[in-house]
Order: sequence, then structure tokens, then C-alpha cells
Amino acid sequence: MSKFLALSLIFLIIIIIVLPAALVRGCSFAPVPAPRIDRSPIESPAGEINIRVYRHDLNEIVELPLEEYLVGVVAAEMPASFGQEALKAQAVVARTYTVNQMIHYGGPGCSVNPGADICTISGHCQAWETEEDSLGKWPAADAAAHLNKIRQAVRDTAGKVITYDGKLIDAVFHSTCGGQTEDSEKVWSTAMPYLRGVACTYCEGTRWWLTEQKLSSAKFATNILPYVTAVPVSSAGRPLLEAASRSDSGRVLTLRVAGESVRGRDFRSAMGLPSTNFTWKIDGEQITFTSRGYGHGVGLCQYGADGQAKAGKTYEEIISYYYTGIEMGTLSPWQ
Ligand SMILES: [Zn+2]
Ligand SMILES: [Zn+2]
Repeated sequence: MSKFLALSLIFLIIIIIVLPAALVRGCSFAPVPAPRIDRSPIESPAGEINIRVYRHDLNEIVELPLEEYLVGVVAAEMPASFGQEALKAQAVVARTYTVNQMIHYGGPGCSVNPGADICTISGHCQAWETEEDSLGKWPAADAAAHLNKIRQAVRDTAGKVITYDGKLIDAVFHSTCGGQTEDSEKVWSTAMPYLRGVACTYCEGTRWWLTEQKLSSAKFATNILPYVTAVPVSSAGRPLLEAASRSDSGRVLTLRVAGESVRGRDFRSAMGLPSTNFTWKIDGEQITFTSRGYGHGVGLCQYGADGQAKAGKTYEEIISYYYTGIEMGTLSPWQ
């Protein structure tokens, strides 16, 4: 190869690769400053309160300031993109639930972790995540702003709790009611005066408003087996299903599967349905469930809370909407 050719090649490489790379790098020299995380302490009118949290990930009990713990609960329980007043409502609901659990305030603590007020298992006590987990799950560009929103929601409601008749309420909540929340006794055994079903159209059209699940007859038979004595298919191989009773909100209380009675909530968990408010259609070997909402349907509807926040409602209005006859209170100081 001639010297001229070699030199031309080097020149070409510079023009095609090195120069554009240098230019691009040169252009990216002014990074957009990310919003700063506001980690200033969250002060409560009730003073400094510490909670003993059993951290499932560490397999140990850690002591945290209550309001800081609540930041991790709100981040784990509600999308940070929700309206600010919905996040504030969630913070008050989580605080009420948490304080009800605390041994110091006469609560039972976490029943499976002696010495802990609460654990981080969502199916047992209440979901919670570390700040690192929260920042990691959000898109990097939104992470700081999301955390600031949640910290502000906790800060703006610090020490606030929900009471009925002077006592803290059992502040249950769910994702999406699907049009009507449920009376507590239709889901559990106790009728609570503040857990009454209310109409809610604020969650209309959101992710879990109406969903569909398809199952084969064979899969249906396998799933229902733990709840019945015989495989419930007709001679034609079709599931035998009939609704026995529904609540006023439309949720299935019991249904009959090949003549045997199965509770709506058991049927929901057997089939993996988002709620007990479902209908079905049997088409040959396939059964299609159409479900309304997601969750048990009692207390605050989270997607509804977001709808109300976006419609300009305050967190107090949102809370009073879903918990009948309650009052807002401030936590008594730690003594
Ligand atoms: Zn627990
Ligand atoms: Zn709703």
C-alpha cells in the first residue's frame, strides 16, 4: 500500500469517526441540573415519634422516625404520578393505619415479629420501600421530583390522623372500586359505621376499571379444585357456574360451582381475578371473566382519590368522601 493511501485512510477515519465523536461530546458538556432532593427533616406537631419496623429484606427490626417511615409507605403504596392531594390522603391513611398498630399507642404490633410495631410485608402489615428502592424504580429524570412530591405530602399532613368517635379508624383502602365501594361486613365480618359503600365514578376509565381474563375449562377445573369436592364440569366439558348472591354494589358474595357453594372472595383468589365484581361468559372450552375494579373495595379507592385530586378536591374532602362520618385529628404527643 502506498504511503499516500495509508495517510488518506487515517485522514478518513479522523473525519468519519473521531471528529463527530468529539463534536457530540463537546455538545453534551452542559448537563441539565437534576432537581435536588429535599431531605430536610419532617417535623410533626406530635413531636418526635419512633417506630420499630421489622425489615423483611434485612431480617431485623430497625427504629425509624414515624414520618420518615411513612415516606417509604406512600412511595410503595401509591404511584408518585398521582395528584398531590391524593398522595396527602394516602399519607394520612397510612399514618392512621400505622399508629393503630403501634405498641406504644396501645396497638397489637406485628403479630408474627415480636417486638416490632409493623413489618414491611404488604400482605401482612403494610408495604414499605427504602429511598434507594424508590429512586431506582422511577425513571431517572423524574426520580428526584417524585420523591420530593411524596416527602411534601407527608410533611404537609405530618401528625394528621383519621378518627371516628374519638378513636383511630381502621383505615383500609384498595386500588380501584369500579364504581361503588363496599360495606365492610360484605367483605369481612364486622360492620364498621365509617366503612360504608359509596358511589365513586372518579376511578372510571382508569387501568383496572374493566378488565378481562380468559381461562380454559381445564384450567378452571384445576383452579377451583381446592374449594370443591368434585371436578365441576358438565358432561359437555363446560364449567357449571351460577351466581347465588351479589351485594348491592354488584360484588359476588357466593356462587354455585356444579351445585357447591363457594364464597366470592375464595373464587376470586382461586381464579386470580382482580375483584369479586365479575361476570362470565362460557364459549365452548373457554370461560371469559369480565371484572370491575381491583381489590376488596372497602374504604378509600386510590384511583378514585387521584381522580378527585385532579378534579380539585382537597385531601380532607377525599378522605371524608370514602370514610363516612369521620373527623380529622392530630396525633397525641409521644410520652
Ligand atoms: Zn406484620
Ligand atoms: Zn373508585
